[in-house]
Amino acid sequence: MEIFTDDELNASLASSEITVAQIIQGGILKCSPATPLYEVAARMSTERCSSIIIYEGEEAIGIWTERDALALDFSSEDILNSPISELMSSPVKAVNGNASLQAVASRFLSEGVRHYLVIDEKSVPLGVVSQTDIVLNQGVEHYLRMRNVDSVLKEGVLIADEGESLGAIAAMMRGHNSDAVLIRYADGELGILTERDIVRYIAERRTANSVGTLASRPLITVDSDCSLYRARSMLVSNKVRHIGVYGAEGDVLGVVSFSDILFGMEHVYVQELRQALAERDKALQLSQKNLHLAEKVIESSLEGIVITDADGIIESVNPAFTRLTGFSEEEALGNTPAMLSSGRHSKAFYAEMWQQIKKEGHWQGEVWNRRKNGEVYPELLTIAAIYDEGGELTHYAALFSDISELKENEERIRSLAYYDPLTNLPNRRLFNDRLSVAISHAHRNQTKLAVLFVDLDRFKRINDSLGHAVGDQLLQEVTARLQKAIREDDTVARMGGDEFIILLSDVESVDAVVQVARRIIELMTESVVLGGRKLVVTCSVGISFYPDDATELSELVQNADTAMYRAKDSGRNSYQLYSPNMNVQSLEHLALEVALHKALEQGELSVHLQPIFCAREETILSAEALIRWNSPELGWVPPSDFIPLAEETGFIVEIGKFTLQRVCHYLSDWNARGTGEISVAVNVSAIQFRSEKFIEDVKEILDCCHILPGQLCFELTESMLVEDAVENLRTMDTLRDMGIRLAVDDFGTGYSSLNYLRRFPIDKLKIDRAFIRDIDNNDQDAALVEAVIGLGHSLRLQVVAEGVEREDQLRVLQHNGCDLIQGFYYNSAMEPEELERQYLTTNA
Ligand code: C2E
Ligand code: CA
Ligand code: CA
Repeated sequence: MEIFTDDELNASLASSEITVAQIIQGGILKCSPATPLYEVAARMSTERCSSIIIYEGEEAIGIWTERDALALDFSSEDILNSPISELMSSPVKAVNGNASLQAVASRFLSEGVRHYLVIDEKSVPLGVVSQTDIVLNQGVEHYLRMRNVDSVLKEGVLIADEGESLGAIAAMMRGHNSDAVLIRYADGELGILTERDIVRYIAERRTANSVGTLASRPLITVDSDCSLYRARSMLVSNKVRHIGVYGAEGDVLGVVSFSDILFGMEHVYVQELRQALAERDKALQLSQKNLHLAEKVIESSLEGIVITDADGIIESVNPAFTRLTGFSEEEALGNTPAMLSSGRHSKAFYAEMWQQIKKEGHWQGEVWNRRKNGEVYPELLTIAAIYDEGGELTHYAALFSDISELKENEERIRSLAYYDPLTNLPNRRLFNDRLSVAISHAHRNQTKLAVLFVDLDRFKRINDSLGHAVGDQLLQEVTARLQKAIREDDTVARMGGDEFIILLSDVESVDAVVQVARRIIELMTESVVLGGRKLVVTCSVGISFYPDDATELSELVQNADTAMYRAKDSGRNSYQLYSPNMNVQSLEHLALEVALHKALEQGELSVHLQPIFCAREETILSAEALIRWNSPELGWVPPSDFIPLAEETGFIVEIGKFTLQRVCHYLSDWNARGTGEISVAVNVSAIQFRSEKFIEDVKEILDCCHILPGQLCFELTESMLVEDAVENLRTMDTLRDMGIRLAVDDFGTGYSSLNYLRRFPIDKLKIDRAFIRDIDNNDQDAALVEAVIGLGHSLRLQVVAEGVEREDQLRVLQHNGCDLIQGFYYNSAMEPEELERQYLTTNA
């Protein structure tokens, strides 16, 4: 008589109430059927997703995974361009979001797939769940600590030489149903090539086909006697999914992956239980004759065993039971297992447990029980219903091991609850664990990580006015939203109450983290209907960075907390970075764009003019237009602060247009009033210069006013002579045809190539301030300036010196034949009206 089938046993591991829907994070990676393979691979690589779902309209028609990369024909050149619809598997296998983690784990094993689409009751897709997700979310740390890596190691090692072709390796992996191969390099070192590497290869559309260049090395390894727990931590902290295993003699034994650990967790343990049960069962079967044999099995077991009758009355216990609980056999017999109850579990918990035993014949999970001396301890409990040959329920058998007994585990066990029961998020303890791993990882790899402290605004009011049940539902909804805002690899945990904390590792920039914070705030403000009411919650987020703000775990969390309070102070529903500098930076990046738009609309921008003089006669000839921003909130903002940002966002096009409009306005006004003739130089940013409508805009502005040819000069940078040379040359010719002069600004700081200058229709050269600054009667610097002036003249260009501040500089420039002088020695930029008053004479 077989008590359990494999699947039943796997299903019986439903130890907790966590559902798949609760562990999936982030959105679904989607694409259309026509997307070419390389693009699919590129998206999977950047999003670090191991699968992608192919949608035709609303319908998920197929899935493509890293595993499928192994089946590709790498010898075919067209393969990278093939539409994904030709390669995907369909239909997509789906699981219901309400399914327990264990049920899904069991399906993974029995169906041999590695991804399921997770759908809700109405078949709306919620996300994708992978085997890795399951392993990461199993709350069975203690079990992993008990098992060594060698218990899940498969026999035989896949090793290939670095010179092998990718096709051969893919075939080898497929043939052995393995997702990784060790690569032996000529120098004897080992590396590893995984499915993910193959996807990256496809994404990059590489041509090199030998695996040596694709594999990663060195291989991260552990010894075969290291615990699965440690192996898993190493996988997580190194952000890899495979780890090499060495034997005692330093010989490679194989590779262990996440899925092996999953397999180990579900199978090794289950098989062991099954064996114990089967043995005992066999013994029971031999009943009368061999009853003492059954007793032997039970007696010698290290696990506590309780056998009850069909009504739950204890019929026998083994010596381990007494050792573990402190109750003697006499005390136990005739009692029910309720004698061990710790009072820590709800009635509902036991009701559900019994319901499952009745329905499926078994239950497994962690429970807290109480010893005779009153001490509460955690145990791993398996209960099986035992039927006679006629299918009649006769007994229940319970096997349990005291988890707190495991010495190496003692400390951790005290906090067996790693997960917050309400939201099923990791709790503070597990978060701290992960954070400390992440910190050492960041330290080793010199990367950044960020901690986000998220606190709901006015949650207490909701809780008090609508009741705790509504409060609880709200926290669950908030959890779902937070999970939506972060990536697969990041951790969100509940610190207690309405406080959540998020760990973002491998942070690329401050901006990227700020984006996450903004997304959280945005997602939170969507209203939610709870208890018949529409609620809007907002939250405040505080952010701290490793290593910038702190290097220690507690300080990092503390600083995020401090920043969060600052966010609350500054009006809630906002985020704050711990470091004030970073705040300014991020404010600039995010708020400045808005502020700039407003500045232009509300007339905060103006154009000032800095006079430019003839070097010999020291009379004014022209002026340079320089933009000025007088912000009511920020005061005078220097262009060096906002021009680069405006360039980043493209807003420079608008600003440039504005400057030109103002300049043309002044010029045509002066012309109309017959003041002395003057020309004005306008700075043109490369972004603006290359923008589609640049020429059109300039034409439009010129058409509306009366400017004489040669009165307008555009200052361009050297980079425009180098990049897109052909295209830019055409634009320059067009401008020249319109009568506009061209100058090269900041000459000497960029490419400074004579050849470039010669090819372009340039009129003027402006020697950069830096060269002028260095002139101090020193022969060498004077010689440099002399050379630049000579160069300009040999190309028939006018030479302008900018940034002239002192008389001695002016003398050197005059001596070397410089044509024009601009600088504080004469004037800084001034309002056009002021320039008119000082330098222009009105005829009227
Ligand atoms: P730039 O084109 O090199 O402009 C000359 C800068 O040198 C101006 O700084 C000017 O005030 C400063 N300057 C002039 N004489 C002296 C001097 O004797 N000593 C020193 N130390 N500095 C002097 P400003 O106004 O802060 O502008 C900075 C930069 O912002 C400009 O550098 C230009 O690249 C950009 N910019 C200003 N207005 C505009 C604009 O309307 N459009 C674009 N695209 N860029 C602009
Ligand atoms: Ca300039
Ligand atoms: Ca300049």
